[in-house]
Amino acid sequence: MVRQQIEARGVRDPAVLAALRKVPRHLFVSEALREQAYGDFPLPIGEQQTISQPYIVAEMTQALALTRNDRVLEIGTGSGYQAAVLAEIAYRVFTIERIRALYLSARRLFDEMRLYNIVTRYGDGSKGWEEESPFDAIIVTAGAPEVPESLIAQLAPGGRLVAPVGGQHTQELVRVTKEAHGIRRTDLGGCRFVKLVGEQGWKEA
Ligand code: SAM
Repeated sequence: MVRQQIEARGVRDPAVLAALRKVPRHLFVSEALREQAYGDFPLPIGEQQTISQPYIVAEMTQALALTRNDRVLEIGTGSGYQAAVLAEIAYRVFTIERIRALYLSARRLFDEMRLYNIVTRYGDGSKGWEEESPFDAIIVTAGAPEVPESLIAQLAPGGRLVAPVGGQHTQELVRVTKEAHGIRRTDLGGCRFVKLVGEQGWKEA
């Protein structure tokens, strides 16, 4: 998976490649899908949600430019796979999920895997996690119409945020860096994510 899908597409960060080699992706999907867990595509995880394609996980993680001491916020725990990858690289990962069944199963998995540097929360992550802010990095794994202002406000100086932004079906992956005199925004290319549903995302159908 790492050689053919991720290194071949130009992801070079050694910490990201090592984390993707280490985290057992098959544990984050249902037994019926285990044989497909390392394929070059997203997979359903129930509740009409998905675990992202391995390459997208790698690209977004690399774009966060993480170091060992970083505190990271993830919006959209889903299966828990992205959080487990982040937890291999960063100091602590805070992750929020709005669907209770997914939140509970990811939390159980983190306990079983002894990923004690992941802190979970059930609720609307579009507003961030103010009490734990500021964060060195923030990753949004669901598509929003715009980068939520509250998330930018919760970035530390020099902090990086990566999020899919745009329409309900296709988005642009953007990186926002908080600099001394404002923010710098870089486009990283097109992508397709499920919707960020919440106060600073899309309204519930
Ligand atoms: N990072 C996940 C993984 O590794 O499996 C994939 C996430 S999936 C593409 C998007 C997730 O975002 C879904 O589980 C969805 O319920 C969640 N989500 C959508 N809006 C949210 C919100 N406002 N707060 C928290 N989670 C949200």
